[in-house]
Amino acid sequence: MDKKILLDMTPDELKAYLISLGQPAFRARQLFSWLHRGVPFAEMRNLPASLRQTLERECVDLPMRIHEVFPSQKDDTVKFLFACHDGNIIEGVLMHYHYGYSLCISTQVGCKMGCAFCASTLNGCVRSLCAGEMLGEVLLANRYLGEKGKVGHIVLMGSGEPLDNYDNTVRFLRLVNDPDGLNISLRNISLSTCGLVPRIEKLKQEKLPVTLSISLHAPNDAIRRQIMPVANTWPIQELMQAVRGYVADTGRRVVFEYALIDKLNSTPEHARELARLIRGLQCHVNLIPLNHVDESPLVPASPKAVQAFLSTLESEHISATVRREMGSDIGGACGQLRRRHLEGKA
Ligand code: SAH
Repeated sequence: MDKKILLDMTPDELKAYLISLGQPAFRARQLFSWLHRGVPFAEMRNLPASLRQTLERECVDLPMRIHEVFPSQKDDTVKFLFACHDGNIIEGVLMHYHYGYSLCISTQVGCKMGCAFCASTLNGCVRSLCAGEMLGEVLLANRYLGEKGKVGHIVLMGSGEPLDNYDNTVRFLRLVNDPDGLNISLRNISLSTCGLVPRIEKLKQEKLPVTLSISLHAPNDAIRRQIMPVANTWPIQELMQAVRGYVADTGRRVVFEYALIDKLNSTPEHARELARLIRGLQCHVNLIPLNHVDESPLVPASPKAVQAFLSTLESEHISATVRREMGSDIGGACGQLRRRHLEGKA
């Protein structure tokens, strides 16, 4: 029998399960709050010993463990490889900002979106993570931090496409925001997507005030299709319409991610075209110097080109910043760490 992942359950589901074991309903809240603090069954002091034994037998408290830790020598960034209960390895990145700790989590083991610049997708998608596993990433980062602090911000920007794992992602967002659990504000969470238009429209209906990040990376379809297969299914105009709807309904500013690639998308003319595309939208552009991936022929734009792109956007009155590189000595994120791990095994 497969063990139940209790961290994946909502408070109501946990209550139903405990009642099925003949337990009083109030135990659900006790159990939920222990689980979401990363406490193992054996240490859940206010639960009867007999219940702890049953849980031990039928369930798992934390469905993963830290496999390896890579602290940066240059800054406070820490990269993790986490081992799931089935042996799959995923990665996460912990960053220290002036406002606190932010964790970048994976939502799938690998990815099937096929973006040309991204290492996560090179071996396809093995499986989606459940909400309890996404929570597990946060709990393990907190355990690692110990007295130093707690994760206060989360970005869904690790491996995987969160909107391709829609139900688990939304369940995770509700669980991580639960006042009896980690209680992380949804406003402190960014969900990044390559642009699955119908799912953006669906997400809008959930009324979750997360920040939506769109991986745009191109000012038009011709360029976007060269690097992002998803652009063949949903053209930029449809994407922009969905984004405009999202902004109008949620009142939240949208962020456009734009990785600058030599020659392909990084000239001042591309910047002007981008400005025309997003003008009037409540938005911010996050410019990312492309992280070079060995398997890809794409070359990062030069620092000069990055600055020129930024200045052009600014002169067009578009709010934009260049993303600070963090932990560059411990292997660019975007699935490169997991990939190196897989290669090491091969
Ligand atoms: N699938 C989601 C989230 C994961 S990728 C998405 O596409 O948004 C997180 C961000 O990293 C995306 O903006 C993605 O386009 C970007 N990214 C991936 N590989 C990169 C690389 N080599 N250099 C710079 N950014 C990269």
